Amino acid sequence: MVKTTAIVLSSRKWGEADRIVTCYASTLGKIRGVARGARRQKSRFGAALEPFTLCRLDLFEKTGDSLFRMSHVDVLMSHHELREDLELMGAAARLVNVVGAVTPERDADPQLFEILAQGLSAVASSQDPLGTALLFQIKLLCRMGFRPQTDCCAACGRAPLAGAPHFLPTAGGLVCPACATQHHARSLPLSQGSVAVLRQAVRLVPSLLVRLRAEGRIRNEIEEAVDKYVTIVAGRRLPPADFLSGSLSGR
Ligand SMILES: [Zn+2]
Repeated sequence: MVKTTAIVLSSRKWGEADRIVTCYASTLGKIRGVARGARRQKSRFGAALEPFTLCRLDLFEKTGDSLFRMSHVDVLMSHHELREDLELMGAAARLVNVVGAVTPERDADPQLFEILAQGLSAVASSQDPLGTALLFQIKLLCRMGFRPQTDCCAACGRAPLAGAPHFLPTAGGLVCPACATQHHARSLPLSQGSVAVLRQAVRLVPSLLVRLRAEGRIRNEIEEAVDKYVTIVAGRRLPPADFLSGSLSGR
């Protein structure tokens, strides 16, 4: 048996009354487990396996099976507020979706777990949930090995970056004007303000991220850059928040 702290990324119905739950566990990384009977009226799991929940899990591992068996769950932080408001749900979904799509199974990174946990709490208490989620999404990408290149040209390596900055999602960062011209169909022009916020988001420790502000034009530019970059990194467009709500309705 394994005991671990985990954050629920998603869950889906399985068989007659079960659920398959995908979590990010602090000591195991991304895992999938079966919660037997989780959809029954008087399930011992209750609402403990809803997305965004921070919990203590007791798991059993069967040799030759990639799925864990979930035997017991204690809710540490339910984050129900993130599931009761569409804007909050959309913001929180940005975080769990990127971790779910980009991390391989069973590749433990306690620091990634911490950033995700901090991000969900920060979104829950933010005046600007989507802006906060965007900044934490950048932080999660950095931790997962996809730090956006902001120091030299992500395409040709030239430094320092002079002239009007562009972000090239397929190259994973800022590019010089020459490379931006070469890839003009896919490169996104950024204002100096956006470049400054992007650099700060990459450099700041997660606890200080909430002090950054990304509003108006800066928000739009960074959002487009991050969305397109995440699509490249994940190899597909991530589902919007309303896709996630499908796993919330009906047990
Ligand atoms: Zn270049």
